Amino acid sequence: MPIGAEQGEERTTMSDTSSTPMFVIENLHASIEDKEILKGVNLTVNRGEVHALMGPNGSGKSTLANVLAGHPSYEVTEGAIYFEGEDILEWEPDERARRGIFLAFQYPTVIPGVSMANFLRMAVTNTRNARAEAAADGGVSKMTPREFRRLMREKMALLKMDDSFATRYLNEGFSGGEKKRAEILQMALLEPTMAILDETDSGLDIDALRVVSEGVNALAGPEMGVLLITHYQRLLNHIKPHYVHIMLDGRIVKDGGPELALELEAQGYETVREQVAAG
Ligand code: ADP
Ligand code: MG
Repeated sequence: MPIGAEQGEERTTMSDTSSTPMFVIENLHASIEDKEILKGVNLTVNRGEVHALMGPNGSGKSTLANVLAGHPSYEVTEGAIYFEGEDILEWEPDERARRGIFLAFQYPTVIPGVSMANFLRMAVTNTRNARAEAAADGGVSKMTPREFRRLMREKMALLKMDDSFATRYLNEGFSGGEKKRAEILQMALLEPTMAILDETDSGLDIDALRVVSEGVNALAGPEMGVLLITHYQRLLNHIKPHYVHIMLDGRIVKDGGPELALELEAQGYETVREQVAAG
């Protein structure tokens, strides 16, 4: 089967501007500790598209996010992931990040004694400098500390974040909203081509919800594809996805437009489960 044929066919009228889809997950199977969690996931994301992946707890959403990020605990047993036509399964997590795939982790680790600004400067300059070295045509230039500060101020203004946030120590006493703010700021600075955000129920209080939705709305554009993973519909009141997918038991069982999220809110996952069981 050609890359992304399954979904590409339905979508040719929407985004047939380039022959290679930007991000393709094809028949992806993955296991942890010999237990199969992903059982054949198919999903295509193109630039300029916001996709929401929804599903009940335990359906495999975070597993998918982790596998896309290259988390070493998961074993891909079948299928492929293509980014701009290249199979990325052999790419280390840092290579994925360097090439423009961003994954906001569900539970960022606490790094005591590192300020937000210093952490972001490390993350961004590492990525940018590696990209600069890889770009033979010099299309990406290395970033100086001064340039970094300017970029950071610019992005913080775009995201309406207070300057004082930059001097905070990373994750020390961060509220749910502040953790999200840190992730969204990192995303703004890295300017990924493919952004994957995994939003759990637990992490999303009202403030966090607002940060994520305003951040995605401010940053999503024609150059970026977004996969927004979320357990619940509420987030989609603030971010309007172009496509909605429902995951059940390690597979995407339903694809649709924004109306699918509303349907889900009205009917619940049980109805989808019954429909799937009934064939
Ligand atoms: P979701 O994010 O949709 O709630 P997860 O991907 O976290 O779902 O989990 C999917 C399934 O994988 C669950 O049955 C969960 O128990 C199992 N699982 C997740 N992580 C591990 C792990 N580290 N070891 C064993 N099983 C796991
Ligand atoms: Mg999860």
